[in-house]
Amino acid sequence: MTSINDHYLKLKAGYLFPEIAKRVNSFCESHPEADVIKLGIGDVTEPLPQAVITAMHEAIDEMAKRETFHGYGPEQGYEFLREKIARFDYQDRGVSISADEIFVSDGSKCDTGNILDIFGNDNRIAVLDPVYPVYVDTNVMAGHTGQADEQGRYEGLVYLPVTAENNFVPDFPSEPVDLIYLCYPNNPTGVVASREVLKAWVDYAHEHSAIILFDAAYEAFISDPEIPHSIFEIEGADEVAIEFRSFSKNAGFTGTRCAFTVVPKSVCASSATGESVSLHQLWNRRQSTKFNGVSYIVQRGAEAVYSPEGREQTKQLVDFYLENAARLREGLEKVGIDVHGGENAPYVWLKTPEGFDSWGFFDELLHKAHLVGTPGSGFGASGEGYFRLSAFNSRENIEEAVNRFQNLVR
Ligand SMILES: *Cc1c(COP(=O)(O)O)cnc(C)c1O
Repeated sequence: MTSINDHYLKLKAGYLFPEIAKRVNSFCESHPEADVIKLGIGDVTEPLPQAVITAMHEAIDEMAKRETFHGYGPEQGYEFLREKIARFDYQDRGVSISADEIFVSDGSKCDTGNILDIFGNDNRIAVLDPVYPVYVDTNVMAGHTGQADEQGRYEGLVYLPVTAENNFVPDFPSEPVDLIYLCYPNNPTGVVASREVLKAWVDYAHEHSAIILFDAAYEAFISDPEIPHSIFEIEGADEVAIEFRSFSKNAGFTGTRCAFTVVPKSVCASSATGESVSLHQLWNRRQSTKFNGVSYIVQRGAEAVYSPEGREQTKQLVDFYLENAARLREGLEKVGIDVHGGENAPYVWLKTPEGFDSWGFFDELLHKAHLVGTPGSGFGASGEGYFRLSAFNSRENIEEAVNRFQNLVR
């Protein structure tokens, strides 16, 4: 009989969001009159910027004529988009990343998973705890872990707790690691990493010949001018880091699909024979073999994000969500809740009030205020006692949510 990849059986069966849906559905069935506001899932709510819409309409018209039709494009992405990314996201910030170090894709979620294709199976892997579950689950699928314990921690992974106790700055691993996943601005905590913190990680990677996988999906939400937008703003990072970026959260592309991964030509790792091999070359080979590029229409849409109008419109979108986050923060602080994040990120991470664990607070909010958030424990053992609220919603819903919080907590 055909065998399966048994590592899949170690996965905690997509527990978090299905469990939330189950509890919400059951509440709604017994309270059909309740107007439930969902601040749970991290998906955008506002439509695409007009500049993107216009560019995509034009691209469709091109596809309608033999003279301007496009078939397969380059697996790495069209030059017109890669050039814009290199210039506006990197060179204009003083970072020397070139267009051919950028690989356009249909999402950062798949890239952060797929990147494991080019690494060996015996690397020691560190993740923050709480964590974006994709980093963990893709390593489980690849057979890089043992079984999970009761709190959901997999044997063989190195978890770096980030909590109020360490001011949301993880300690370095006590044992050396080879691959480190960092996500800043962070999902789920909404906190950012200072230049000093990032520099310390780059130094760590140099010292231990490790590679940093840096997820900067929320880069556009950084409003503090002191906070780096890219790991490559740190000197020497181009030898030890790969960066993931996405148009999902800044330009509302969650349903349109476009992202990119930056693999500098200078970043290398070791072959079995001890030779230093370019990761750029391997990722290029991987993408050329397993990927056939992002649709021309979508890449024209992504390009328009960098036009003067596109830049202005995406800034307005981001500012809109940041204002939502600020109102959430303020409203929660007013009723004495301890809040983190939400200043350079669309997520607010709050400490659950005395007497409530993450799921206990979830039920309390759902039943008493008809609000849905995400229990912190769903993102990792160290998320217990915390709760995530997303600022991706209408202003009206955010204001109503804040009102309900104030009525709930005395
Ligand atoms: C939303 C998100 C992404 C973006 O994923 P896409 O596949 O590009 O939509 C990447 N990383 C994190 C942590 C995210 O929350």
